[in-house]
Amino acid sequence: MNPSESRRTFAIISHPDAGKTTLTEKLLLAGGAIHLAGEVRARGNNRRARSDWMKIEQQRGISVTSSVMTFERPSSTGETLTFNLLDTPGHEDFSEDTYRTLTAVDSAVMVIDAAKGIEAQTRKLFEVCRLRSVPIATFINKVDREGLDPFVLLDEVADKLALDVTPMNWPIGMGGIYEGLFDFRRNTLSRPDKTDEHLTGLDDPRLETLVSPEGAARLREEAELALGGYGGFDLAAYRHGDQTPVFFGSALREYGVDALIGAIGDYAPPPRQQPAIPRPITPDEGNVSGFIFKVQANMNPQHRDRIAFLRVCSGKFRRGMKLKQVQTGKTIAINSPIFFFAQDRELAETALPGDIIGIPNHGVLRVGDTLTEGEAITFTGIPNFAPEILRRIRLLDPTKTKQLRTALVDMAEEGVTQLFKPLVGSQWIVGVVGQLQLEVLISRLQAEYNVAAEFEPAPFETARWLSADDPADLKAFMEGRGGAMAEDRDGAPVFLARDAWEVNYVAERAPKVRFSATRERA
Ligand code: GDP
Repeated sequence: MNPSESRRTFAIISHPDAGKTTLTEKLLLAGGAIHLAGEVRARGNNRRARSDWMKIEQQRGISVTSSVMTFERPSSTGETLTFNLLDTPGHEDFSEDTYRTLTAVDSAVMVIDAAKGIEAQTRKLFEVCRLRSVPIATFINKVDREGLDPFVLLDEVADKLALDVTPMNWPIGMGGIYEGLFDFRRNTLSRPDKTDEHLTGLDDPRLETLVSPEGAARLREEAELALGGYGGFDLAAYRHGDQTPVFFGSALREYGVDALIGAIGDYAPPPRQQPAIPRPITPDEGNVSGFIFKVQANMNPQHRDRIAFLRVCSGKFRRGMKLKQVQTGKTIAINSPIFFFAQDRELAETALPGDIIGIPNHGVLRVGDTLTEGEAITFTGIPNFAPEILRRIRLLDPTKTKQLRTALVDMAEEGVTQLFKPLVGSQWIVGVVGQLQLEVLISRLQAEYNVAAEFEPAPFETARWLSADDPADLKAFMEGRGGAMAEDRDGAPVFLARDAWEVNYVAERAPKVRFSATRERA
């Protein structure tokens, strides 16, 4: 196998409480990963690994463990596959962080609670995956409890998400009458005591001896309907994001988890070609390239270090490599990268396409940055979103202006908030996509910068990035509108508007100016 094909880099998307955390733990257990649910256990005499983790995680209090979880499993043909599971923040609020994490994966697993069906957050996250044609496998969780009828669940996924569905296994009852799962792919029956029985097919007479006669009859009837009613699994349609294979199971009881991970290994795409300017980058290119999709601050207020998360897109990264930050032209020696390999072996010194490495830095690396061995390419599709909430910040202690500014710039660099500097007046405006980001901002100002502040409404509600083919058009537009013009943290011009209606009104009257709701770092 081509080394770049050995990676499965994926995320789990779900509504809170559907079972993402439980499934994550079971996947890690199944793969024998050494750090579980945020706990780090450096094993044996792997002193290097231990000291890296200890130094970064414990002395400095950065919690990076759960951001990227790596485990290995053999594929069905016996080759070793490395799974990189990227954590998406689990709160209700949609955040840019979540979006950007999804830019770094090649596929996703959507977890649905069998009693609830598709919920709001699942849907939003699904839309993000669809935007990028990220293939999705579905895990319908909690079959050990009473749930909705399997057909209702499948139809709901199909209707609400406009996606073709294909059941990969089938539950024999749910809740109190649950008797097991039948795997269509392997013709195996997995019973609650976790013994797997291989059958010749659904009509195998042994079925009656393994489950109750009612269970066997129910399975045959439902399976026939299901197999006839939904198309069979189509690898190309799945990889294209048009069809989702659906697995029933229970994360808590470990039903169906093995089938799910097996299918990700066999079917989920290895690292794909990544869109970039001026040309796309394929994983088997020799030179290293990657992009930063997330920056995480130190949780210890005594230190200002950040960890930038790099998704490797091509080449073979080695510790100590010097990479160029294309956006600034600076060369950065990456001497102490964090590798997320969880296996009980020497600390890895290399990372392949699909892998994630953490790069400690002091705020130099930013979300959206491209790193290469020198070539001037820029990965695309890692945008900032137009904020939906704009606020001014009022200091409770006016002598802290300088600290406030530093803090706002820091947090804008991390991607926690966006920062707009009005061309007229001195009060900066912060923008966020979700309410939760505002709460995070205020509590971090206090905890890390010792700045007590509160929000004030800004006279604006939304923002658009501006551009024009002819700079003179842009200049003419801006001249009449001092009060509503601002710069973002990169100095790009931004129009602040009272509402979406005003954006439309103004945009219609300025046809030579483009108003954009997203911006990528150039
Ligand atoms: P998350 O918010 O999506 O990460 O969900 P959790 O993994 O924290 O699970 C939410 C709750 O559902 C917890 O109380 C879990 O124990 C429970 N849970 C998760 N999976 C299952 C399952 O398969 N069956 C049952 N009965 N409960 C489950």
